[in-house]
Amino acid sequence: MGPRKRILVTGGAGFLGSHLCERLLAEGHDVLCVDNYFTGTKANVAHLFDNPMFEVMRHDVTFPLYVEVDEIYNLACPASPIHYQHDPVQTTKTSVHGAINMLGLAKRTRAKIFQASTSEVYGDPDVHPQPESYRGNVNPIGPRACYDEGKRCAETLFFDYWRQHKLRIKVVRIFNTYGPRMHPNDGRVVSNFIVQALKNEPITIYGEGTQTRSFCYVDDLIEGFIRLMNTGDEITGPINIGNPGEFTIRQLAEKVIELTGSRSKLVKMPLPADDPLQRKPDITLAKKHLGWAPTIALDEGLKKTIAYFDALLKENKAVARVGR
Ligand code: NAD
Ligand code: UDP
Repeated sequence: MGPRKRILVTGGAGFLGSHLCERLLAEGHDVLCVDNYFTGTKANVAHLFDNPMFEVMRHDVTFPLYVEVDEIYNLACPASPIHYQHDPVQTTKTSVHGAINMLGLAKRTRAKIFQASTSEVYGDPDVHPQPESYRGNVNPIGPRACYDEGKRCAETLFFDYWRQHKLRIKVVRIFNTYGPRMHPNDGRVVSNFIVQALKNEPITIYGEGTQTRSFCYVDDLIEGFIRLMNTGDEITGPINIGNPGEFTIRQLAEKVIELTGSRSKLVKMPLPADDPLQRKPDITLAKKHLGWAPTIALDEGLKKTIAYFDALLKENKAVARVGR
């Protein structure tokens, strides 16, 4: 274990942020979780409240923040299409103004700063799998643009602060990640399918279900984050972190039905606009610079995620019964 650091995690009450806070506390650091609870919840971090090294602050990163820290992980931003499209102007502001505010904070405190970027910077890719050198195929005026272009602009800001102000930056491009504490209603495919299967409701396949995604289990991703943050200053990224195992959406649905023993049937729904046809990370750089590769296979990760949602649904039912 290295020296204790004061670490700020924006979006710390979200799915990934809560796992990151947990991991940083376990390593003995002082963690400040900042979140406006747009998609995150206090419940995601409630189990950490007893730890005197943990602090939570309700704050919107589109406004400046004055705190003293050694490292910043900037994760604040809704990540699921239904949430980021709910208020698209706020989504772009969160990525762009949020990045400016956090980079300003890093400049003043000389903190090392990490940006949670996304495979969405590649848009609907015409290169497969996607290496970091691929510049992407993003529709700048479509319904996903508020997220994709916001994240692209945040990367621009990170690299300009690096060139202009010599900040220490670390940019990771995250591919679809899943696991416990995903929001049950945020419309992402893994949570949707598991919740539908556990309730024996129809599994909603958008389009033909032939589009592909590569799914990384959250623990693998967080390990990649920590390794990247701890690299020497010459490593800035962007670095892809994701699981190169590629599955069609139909295959995912069938796997979830098998693992839950569900009676659910598949139903086809319209494909959303600009839905990427295929996505798979090229993780050559992560292997080379971080010695990182995913270790948790889809079946194993799905089992853990199913157990989480199963308990959550039972708990909610119990709460609903008490309420009645
Ligand atoms: P999430 O929605 O669970 O977490 C995002 C958190 O940011 C939430 O707690 C939310 O309340 C908070 N937030 C949103 N706007 C804010 C604001 N203006 N000020 C302060 N807090 C704000 O999503 P997640 O999956 O945990 O994603 C975390 C980060 O990782 C995001 O930046 C996302 O773009 C990125 N990412 C995630 C994935 C994935 O598959 N999960 C893939 C690519 C990129
Ligand atoms: N999808 C689906 N049914 C659902 C939710 C999503 O078929 O109930 C599809 C969606 O169209 C996309 C893929 O699953 O092709 C992944 O969607 P998600 O929203 O999880 O992430 P993203 O599109 O951002 O990768």
